[in-house]
Amino acid sequence: MSLKLIQGPPNSGRAGRIRRGLVDVLDRDPVLVVPTLDDVYEFERELCAEGAILGAEVMTFGGLFRAVASAGGAPLGAVFTPAQRLGAIAAAAAGRRGSLGPLRTSARRPGFPRALARLLDDLQSAGLEPEDVEAAAGTLEGSAYLGDVAALFAAYTELRDRLGFVDTHAIARKAIGLLEAGGAKSWRRPVFLYGLDDLTPNQLALIRALVPLVEVTATLPYEQGHAALEERSAPLLAALAEIGIDEVEEAPPDPGNTESPLLFHLERRLGADEPARLPPDAESLVFLRSAGTRGEAEAIALEVARLLAAGADPEEIAIVVRDPARRGPQIAAVLESYGVPTALEAEVPIATTSVGGSLAALLEAVLGAGRASDLLRYLRGPSGVAPARVDWFERRLRRRLVRTAAAALELWEERYEEPPPDVARIREAASRPSDLATTVAAIAGAMGARAATEIEARAGGAIATAMSERAGVEGLAPPPASIARELATLSVRVWSGPVRDRVRITDPRRVRAARFENVFVASLQDGEFPRAAGHTDPFLSEHQRDSLGLPPRRDEEAEERYLFHACLALPKRRLFLSCRDSDENGAAEAPSPFLDEIERLLEAGEGDVRGRVLAEVVHRVADAPSEDELARAIAAWGPGAEPRLLLEAAGAGDDVAARIATRLAAARSAEAATRAPGPLSNPAVIEALEEVRAYGGTTLEGFDVCSYRWFVSHELSPQPLDPLPDPLVAGGIVHAALCALYEERPADDALPRPPTLDAWIVRGRELVAEIAAGRGLGKHPTERAMLARVEGLLARFLADEAGRGEACFEPWLLEAGFSEAEETEMPALEFEGWRLHGAIDRVDRAPDGRALVLDYKLSGKVTPREKLEEEAKLQLQLYLIAVAELWGAEAAGGLYHPLRGTSERRPRGLVREDAAAELADYGLSKTDKVDRAEFDELLADARRRAGEIVARMRSGRIDRDPGPRPGLRNHGVCPQFCEFAPICRRDRAPVEPASDEEEDER
Ligand code: SF4
Repeated sequence: MSLKLIQGPPNSGRAGRIRRGLVDVLDRDPVLVVPTLDDVYEFERELCAEGAILGAEVMTFGGLFRAVASAGGAPLGAVFTPAQRLGAIAAAAAGRRGSLGPLRTSARRPGFPRALARLLDDLQSAGLEPEDVEAAAGTLEGSAYLGDVAALFAAYTELRDRLGFVDTHAIARKAIGLLEAGGAKSWRRPVFLYGLDDLTPNQLALIRALVPLVEVTATLPYEQGHAALEERSAPLLAALAEIGIDEVEEAPPDPGNTESPLLFHLERRLGADEPARLPPDAESLVFLRSAGTRGEAEAIALEVARLLAAGADPEEIAIVVRDPARRGPQIAAVLESYGVPTALEAEVPIATTSVGGSLAALLEAVLGAGRASDLLRYLRGPSGVAPARVDWFERRLRRRLVRTAAAALELWEERYEEPPPDVARIREAASRPSDLATTVAAIAGAMGARAATEIEARAGGAIATAMSERAGVEGLAPPPASIARELATLSVRVWSGPVRDRVRITDPRRVRAARFENVFVASLQDGEFPRAAGHTDPFLSEHQRDSLGLPPRRDEEAEERYLFHACLALPKRRLFLSCRDSDENGAAEAPSPFLDEIERLLEAGEGDVRGRVLAEVVHRVADAPSEDELARAIAAWGPGAEPRLLLEAAGAGDDVAARIATRLAAARSAEAATRAPGPLSNPAVIEALEEVRAYGGTTLEGFDVCSYRWFVSHELSPQPLDPLPDPLVAGGIVHAALCALYEERPADDALPRPPTLDAWIVRGRELVAEIAAGRGLGKHPTERAMLARVEGLLARFLADEAGRGEACFEPWLLEAGFSEAEETEMPALEFEGWRLHGAIDRVDRAPDGRALVLDYKLSGKVTPREKLEEEAKLQLQLYLIAVAELWGAEAAGGLYHPLRGTSERRPRGLVREDAAAELADYGLSKTDKVDRAEFDELLADARRRAGEIVARMRSGRIDRDPGPRPGLRNHGVCPQFCEFAPICRRDRAPVEPASDEEEDER
């Protein structure tokens, strides 16, 4: 019989010649072998369309090996599934790990079984057995290393044989052996090979064994003198020549297979020396240059939407990226958001899916590292646990600083009396690996069923299949200690199934045998396409490969050029070449050198260059590819824009215009509503606000800082997830410790003085420890650090007090409470129609009855007298009124005492001049000293402002109005500490300074 070669460049009609040859021998049951399953479906469709339904069979090379082996009558036996093979390799590696030499450390890594599987594929597809590798190890440099490889290889094959399985490579060897031994003489089916630009040694051996029996016809993308093809296909041509080629049919390039002369020119001339140039042609070649991956995805999606709107068939559009697992998801997401169905042909790590990630986290939490964060991650995934429970759980974990899964589960069980159901199932099954794998499969299946997206459902299915397959074979179920890591090494195809009516996002290798009307080659960046060098198998050097009889590695640069050339040959009508000039932050990104090569094939001139620059945050109105994008584009014109005019300009039809106008109106009124939260109008709410009788000083201040902020924090009272911030906790402890300390009076002294300072500090430390223990603090390192800081602050404050010399003011009231509650010392203070309640940190009194109010602040700076109103401070003044009216003292001054200042801890506030001399050791500021009239006026002013605030509160006048009243410096300025900006959405962009004229008008 014979070997016939059909050789020619892409678009030379090789597929048509193969099909015709196939149809000619339909009566002899021919076989067509193609690279991928997608190609199988595609060729089956085409053959059906030509009426060749019966007779021919289309398959991949794996199918041919199986068919030949079966034809020889040999039983194939049970075949490993990919998951079982990987499981067997992992088990073999784990079993041999202890006796390994140089590979011992690598063998502990989670990705090792997968890398070893690739190496074994390489060795087995060359027909090698463990003994061959072992023999080579005895003769080669680095033999210990190869010895490890041989040992791992042997461990795998021993396990496989012991379990009574075969793998696809063993079937290949069986098929070749049968043919060589004359055992498959009944094989009489002609064989056609299409699109195979790489053949493994086993595949070549099969062809060699088939040629004497039947006609074998193969196509080869080869053309003498073609820069991209000659070098790449030469080794395969030589291998086939060595078998013995009986006939060569040259397929010359056919411009009729491509609608565009320019595209034909690009494919023909890529890489040629001094090529001819053609003028750019916007109908067939478009360049997209964008900023950032999102911008690039949107630019591509916009062009796809345009093509579809112009009547293109989605199946006739392909987006080719060198690494679809990395770049494909974002492009697919943008296209789907524009309503374009996609088929992303990529495998992504299962751990990146919600199902895979949360299941791996569950296994880690229960059987692995045992972290609370893993347990939480599982619960946040599609666990089926109510989100409200998970919210509660997360809050509890964070507040109690829980780190271990065991402690976290204790908390859960305290409240719900039993662990989450999947935790219980995993615990129960953990003693038997096969039960555990079956349980994990069941949980994955249930998670996949609960998941909202196709990829998640597929991830659940992939895990369930892999685990069930491994559980079904004794010894292949993953051990409990490593099941989480093994699960995380699985991957899942984002799309599987027919690609009808979908835009394909794929890699160049997968579609190199296909054609499309429109093709996008995306992410053309240097280092991405062409890939940076170094993507080679990590196990074997070139010398070792040679000694083992493995084919040499392909030249990486030639391979990248070959794949880019394949992309140029894909489109029949139009090609889009897309790259990024910068990332999202404007940092430059280097475009692919292949783009320079394309430019060398074009006459000078811009060509058609489109894309998204950094400044374009939405599409142009006229370009918007979907109604959502159109609404966004119009909204970006701002509230003053007239949607009707923009829609007319964009050429939107009446029905679209009406829908967009309605949506914009609704969106604008909703937006306006959120911008103006008040005044509150619900009568029940107003009534509840009016009924409040007593207010605290900080509440009034909070309202004055911003009424919206007060309403959210004080009335709606959202609960933070995290523990209280350190300064708040530390402040509480300092206040409590100072109160207790001054009540106790260590060394029987009213104030710390140099001789008694040590006693005060020692007792202060004890009090801090007691208070912290009473509050359950001190177990976590961060808490201990915070307590150490508190002790330091306390000691320093006491030293400051002791350094002030003899004082005539001495502590009189501590935590002096006044409120409507019975247990406080004094009742709430009555004002005009409202009451004030509070607790004053400390009041010192002079023998003549004058009182000084002290308010401790855990900050480095405090508010001086002249900024009291500007910073919305009222409490100090109101406490002075309370001391006078409730306790009958003569208010002489009030001071905020900073505890945290480093170089200066000067108290600030307001002090009557007649008391200033006695308080000189406080280092009072000149501006804080006021005469009696001004002092009284400040208190009267505070009383008036407080009354106004109460009136506003009661009437529900809530607005986003940061800063006290107009005219003051802070008016309209949001304080830096406000964490509600994401809720209130007040525009905090810097305000343009007013022009001189506007300033004059004011
Ligand atoms: S960000 Fe400004 S306007 Fe919004 S709540 Fe805070 S202070 Fe008020």
